[in-house]
Amino acid sequence: MPLMPRHSVVVPVCNEAEVLEAFHARCSSAMRSLGDEYEMVYVDDGSQDGSWEILRSLAQEDPRVCLLRLSRNFGHQIAITAGLESARGETVTTLDADLQDPPEVIAELVAAWRGGADVVCAVRQERRGDPWFKRVSASAFYRLVNRFSDIPLPAQTGDFRLLSRRAVDSLLSMPEQHRYVRGMVAWLGFEVATVGYSREPRAAGTTKYPLSRMLGLASDGIMAFSTLPLRAASWFGLGATGLGLVVGTRVAWEHLAGQQGPSWDRSFLAALILLVAGGQFLTLGILGQYLKRIHTEVRRRPLYLVRDQRGFEEGSARITPGAPDPGPNPGGSGPAGPRGGRRPDWFEPPAGPPGPG
Ligand code: UDP
Ligand code: MG
Repeated sequence: MPLMPRHSVVVPVCNEAEVLEAFHARCSSAMRSLGDEYEMVYVDDGSQDGSWEILRSLAQEDPRVCLLRLSRNFGHQIAITAGLESARGETVTTLDADLQDPPEVIAELVAAWRGGADVVCAVRQERRGDPWFKRVSASAFYRLVNRFSDIPLPAQTGDFRLLSRRAVDSLLSMPEQHRYVRGMVAWLGFEVATVGYSREPRAAGTTKYPLSRMLGLASDGIMAFSTLPLRAASWFGLGATGLGLVVGTRVAWEHLAGQQGPSWDRSFLAALILLVAGGQFLTLGILGQYLKRIHTEVRRRPLYLVRDQRGFEEGSARITPGAPDPGPNPGGSGPAGPRGGRRPDWFEPPAGPPGPG
């Protein structure tokens, strides 16, 4: 087997024990049909349901499987980033483990890459598999983020996409902590191609993206790619000042004209005060959201920590079929990716030879 595979597949996994074996069988068969060398990089994002044990047995049976186990749940976008840092293929395709993204579509993504595209997005033409709430909230999500974003984001694209090696390396050169990967990919530019597909129902298990997480992702998408909320806050301030001037002038005029106090209805004034006070808090909230992100960025913590890894070695050697189980922590756990990805400046690799894995 060549040391560098032609294609890598990155699969973020969070509590997907029910579907992993079926996914691996179907994805492996789709990859084998391409006729090139490939690797499958599974990133276990803090699963609690035995997913890691299943992944380990897959790695023991299949030398093309590489595993990364994060120290806890860091979220889908970080899990994808961890996988991208570890993948070594000339192309890297990211897709979900729940079989909503059909692995057979990878052949079409690869064909578009051969046609010269650096980024090939799989575009959902149908969302048969999603319940109505998911369809409506996802469509509102895309419209909201696109409306705010300074960079046009392709509609109906999630994180099922193929990236060329240069697109992966460029993406990994972007150091931000709040990672809205689909927006970051749009920022890259390069030649983008799209391939339509029908989104299947989840093969088993439940979504790990409830509404609260969707909202978090939407705010990451908006804040990372737009300053419109800040500008909107300034416009609100300008509007409130204008209103204050009009009301103030009217009150002064009535006073000068010798009328008995202002004729304004008290409830109108109360509403006005509430409106302005509410607007101020809203503006503070928007500022807070940006400040929170600045705070996260300046701390410069590693994006994720690795608890365990299989199938990677320093020097990029692969595990061999039937190799003995290398024990609980073969490559040593470290603060970042197994091939020296996002290591912070202070990180020294452990002394001595790498583990037996
Ligand atoms: N996932 C993850 N970490 C998380 C949430 C999700 O790695 O914190 C994985 C999950 O296992 C799946 C993919 O990301 O492979 C997409 O998640 P899900 O299918 O639940 O999202 P949906 O398709 O419902 O939007
Ligand atoms: Mg899904």
